[in-house]
Amino acid sequence: MRPDTAVPRVRLRPGRDKSLKQLHPWVFSGAIADVEGEPPPGSTVSIVGPDGSPLASAAWSPSSNIRARVWSFDPGVRIDDAFFAQRIGAAARQRSGMLDAAHTGCRLVHGESDALPGVVADRYGDVLVVSLLSAGAELWRDTLVAELMTATGCGVVYERSDADVRALEGLPPRSGPLVGSLPKPVLLVEDGLSYHVDIALGQKTGFYLDQRDNRRRVRELAHARDVLNCFCYTGAFSVAALAGNANAVLSIDSSAEALALARENVAANALDAFRTEWRDADVFAELRKLRDSAASFDLVVLDPPKFAPTAHHAEKAARAYKDINLLALKLLRPGGLLATFSCSGGVSADLFQKIVAGAARDARADAAIIERFTASSDHPVALNFPESDYLKGLLLRKSA
Ligand code: SAH
Repeated sequence: MRPDTAVPRVRLRPGRDKSLKQLHPWVFSGAIADVEGEPPPGSTVSIVGPDGSPLASAAWSPSSNIRARVWSFDPGVRIDDAFFAQRIGAAARQRSGMLDAAHTGCRLVHGESDALPGVVADRYGDVLVVSLLSAGAELWRDTLVAELMTATGCGVVYERSDADVRALEGLPPRSGPLVGSLPKPVLLVEDGLSYHVDIALGQKTGFYLDQRDNRRRVRELAHARDVLNCFCYTGAFSVAALAGNANAVLSIDSSAEALALARENVAANALDAFRTEWRDADVFAELRKLRDSAASFDLVVLDPPKFAPTAHHAEKAARAYKDINLLALKLLRPGGLLATFSCSGGVSADLFQKIVAGAARDARADAAIIERFTASSDHPVALNFPESDYLKGLLLRKSA
């Protein structure tokens, strides 16, 4: 037990302790009545109820509207190296079944849903990539890196703390090597397929690990089909479809760097380059061109970027989702499949389904949902933190 006096107290307003009592890990500025002293960014504070009773230990984020993030709902727990060793060890053990010779990477720590707010860590073979997104995570950087290395035995750690949310915490973007140097290329094996990953300059930590299960499903569905992969990034769904013996795969992305890596990924798996076509283009415009040229496909994958980071952007995002889904449904042959995704936290699964239904109506396409997609299990959704349930997808079949 740590002496209570060592940690500044943050007292909540009357009636504003409800979400904390329901184990939600965020304390918003408006819920706070008063603060003892001026705790430095990232330091541990004791969250107490309106009556002074201790509720949780949390990391203080003075610049953010999310003013504190709970490390532990047991107010007696010391927040120290041993605490992080325990949390990281637990997260790593939960993923041990996901790593083998055919799968050398996964997300190891998924922030709040692994009870480590602001901490993201992905593994690519022996390379760890960390993304520290809150003042608390920033303060504990050295400990987190050391414990991640101990838990995994990995010898290389690279930092990609360059997400926009860091600005809300008053933290500058930072990326670069922390321990060792990156192998060239960084290689990820997923479902027995090899991918070159651009850790330093790629999106997120370099690869969309959350789509692991859904790529496998697309691989199973691709046999003998003409596939269109929109927003293909480094071609992971394209490679999966080719490995599943797709007839041909047309892939579209607006990033030339991503497409260059995508070509390498086809070669890395000795797949037929002549069955693939890459287009450096805007998907919204290219889908219209394809429609105007009367092109058609048996399987379309739509995995766009986050159109709505928060519910605030939902309306504009809804128009964009509707547009691409409408066009994709028009391009589908009778009996064809559409695997359509949204990774927008601001668009719920329910809203996404309604948007897609509207798109089908306007496309005059008769289609039904035959499967639903989520992120793979290395991206858990803690029941007390529904905010981490961001990836949703539908598999639609167009009537024959
Ligand atoms: N499906 C991919 C991940 C997609 S990420 C995978 O499994 O790895 C989203 C991609 O959309 C990025 O590569 C980005 O370059 C691309 N993108 C964003 N807006 C675009 C647009 N309007 N047209 C084409 N590509 C776009």
